[in-house]
Amino acid sequence: MEEIGYWGKASSELEKVGASIHDRVRLTKGSLVFEGLLMPPADPADDNHVVVKLDNGYNVGIRLEPGVKIELIARNPSFKPELPEVPVKVKEGLPKVSIISTGGTIASRVDYVTGAVYPALTARDLYNVVPELGDLANIDAHVLFSIFSEDMHPKLWSEIAEAVAKRLEDGVEGVVVTHGTDTMGYTAAALSFALQDLPVPVVLVGAQRSSDRPSSDAAMNLMDAVTVAAKAPFAEVVVTMHGEVGDTYTLVHRGVKVRKCHTSRRDTFRSINSPPLAKVEKGEVVLLSRPHRLRDRERRVSLKAKFEDKVSLVKVHPGFDGSIIDYLAEKGIKGIVLEGTGLGHAPHLSFNSIKRAIDSGVVVVMTSQCIWGRINMNVYRTGVELLRMGVLPGGDMLPETALVKLMWTLGQYRDLEEVKRIMLTNLVGELTERTQHSDYLR
Ligand code: GLU
Repeated sequence: MEEIGYWGKASSELEKVGASIHDRVRLTKGSLVFEGLLMPPADPADDNHVVVKLDNGYNVGIRLEPGVKIELIARNPSFKPELPEVPVKVKEGLPKVSIISTGGTIASRVDYVTGAVYPALTARDLYNVVPELGDLANIDAHVLFSIFSEDMHPKLWSEIAEAVAKRLEDGVEGVVVTHGTDTMGYTAAALSFALQDLPVPVVLVGAQRSSDRPSSDAAMNLMDAVTVAAKAPFAEVVVTMHGEVGDTYTLVHRGVKVRKCHTSRRDTFRSINSPPLAKVEKGEVVLLSRPHRLRDRERRVSLKAKFEDKVSLVKVHPGFDGSIIDYLAEKGIKGIVLEGTGLGHAPHLSFNSIKRAIDSGVVVVMTSQCIWGRINMNVYRTGVELLRMGVLPGGDMLPETALVKLMWTLGQYRDLEEVKRIMLTNLVGELTERTQHSDYLR
């Protein structure tokens, strides 16, 4: 992961003396002298301060006001990105778990000399950061990508699914996929559709706080994800993340029913319209609901990894006139998931556009922006009219799960009638007959 450097005024002042991040610099302001390592900016949007790590370990931000003098003292004097070598030992009798890294905060480590963040992706790095992993499983680690999850793409979901299927064919007790948290729910849904008939669990895991912070959730999340992969009784695609703000347990959520609900809290992931599948407490997996499929090493995974990326998720709102639907249809969109209001409604102002899109062969699915509950388009006239136009009701699917399912279905089937039938059929737990409210609803 690339570091954000200085820009604007700070960048040009540093360039004048040839100083780069991690060089030793001295800033003098009147009688005040700050000497230490030049750190990345604390606030990437601010070009008026530079940050220096003093020899006592404190970081100070110095404002570049007139009279501040910058000197380059030495280039990278003690720059040691490498961690000490820790041998990775194979322990007899421990289950084999594969870890596939795709990036995000969890796959990073901090160099304590410079404060720089590096990808921590090899098995050796993982053991270094979380040595306890060696007591849970024999880890085999692979780097697939090193990206932030906002840059995830349906094409990359296919690559992840293929990489997981390959590990499963090689024979492992479970697979862990490390992932940025922002779009982890989408990837979890994508893998749920792409990897059917799983023999063992596939566990997505991330971290809200990087491992340099005392409040980091990286180690516990990773250990519990490996625990689930190694010994949980089910064979499903799940997300394992902190269950509450402390360090007492993690929750295991179904990949098609999970959402990131908070921008910064460690317990950001919640199961929506379904109880979590399990929790992990003190190294034990405790079931909270009935698994759909049990672990069976003999079963062969069925890989269906093709996704159609010409599908969009559109949120309706007061004043929504549907012109964005016309635009998408003109651009050759194949499917649209609407995030409607309440029970699954859109303004009458947008009806002509929705009808035109459906008549031209675009598959339109309705979900709700309410998050909890299910849509019911038979209650009000608006819903009934939309149904008659051919809008497909998305039941209690999360809008993002409906998006991923439509991408997957259009990637798998050519016949539009078949696509519509699949969208209305539960495949992997994404659509439930009766929506259950979880105890975790807050
Ligand atoms: N935007 C980053 C991502 O989702 C945040 C870091 C993280 O959550 O890992 O990859």
